[in-house]
Amino acid sequence: MGSITDNLKQVERNIAEACARAGRSRDEVTLIAVSKTKPVEDLKEAYDAGIREFGENKVQELVDKYEKLPKDIHWHMIGHLQRNKVKYIVDKVCLIHGVDSYELAEEINKQAEKKGVPKVDILIEINIGNEETKYGIRKEDTFELVDRIIRKLPYVNVRGLMCIAPYVEDPEENRQYFVEMGKIIVDIKSKLKYSSHVDVMSMGMTGDYQVAVEEGATMVRVGTGIFGERDYSMS
Ligand SMILES: *Cc1c(COP(=O)(O)O)cnc(C)c1O
Repeated sequence: MGSITDNLKQVERNIAEACARAGRSRDEVTLIAVSKTKPVEDLKEAYDAGIREFGENKVQELVDKYEKLPKDIHWHMIGHLQRNKVKYIVDKVCLIHGVDSYELAEEINKQAEKKGVPKVDILIEINIGNEETKYGIRKEDTFELVDRIIRKLPYVNVRGLMCIAPYVEDPEENRQYFVEMGKIIVDIKSKLKYSSHVDVMSMGMTGDYQVAVEEGATMVRVGTGIFGERDYSMS
């Protein structure tokens, strides 16, 4: 691995090439730098290289980094969010990626109202590979959940869908899942006659983001490919 700045250039090139292969415009895809477990200095280096979208999966870590880094950063909560922790981040994040129950959305709605946040953007997490170890709803339940949230929770804005594809050696194995995500979002949009803003697809990580971009990802979440391997032994 090179420096963070060099890695970013490489990831940027890869995204641009994947966009070109798919006939998409580069500005349809947002790169989220997943900085979980990494020190603030690493985030600063990415920030200085132009990154403004950062992804974290732990509430406390996100809040700590939020306090220490410039306020023009957009923070993405990408991890599983516990209901009792919603209150700490609802006014700090630009997008909550992993919403997989009505109860969690309800709590986000409640805390947003309390804190005077007019709308909190969220994504619904789909367990696209039907893996027992993963969070996320079944794809068959997507429309019902999206529809219910839109009708009942005025402080929550469903922007789209998110998935964590299975861990695979060959990213081509995940292409089927990214294609499926695209079909689910098209289906939802056609059923939601009153709302057309459900158009974000957050999918693709270090191992498979190029394939995800080829299949329509509008957000990719890249950690290792930018910051290097994570060391969990310190935590
Ligand atoms: C850690 C994480 C990522 C980034 O994973 P890499 O393989 O390091 O790119 C992306 N999305 C989620 C939800 C994560 O938890």
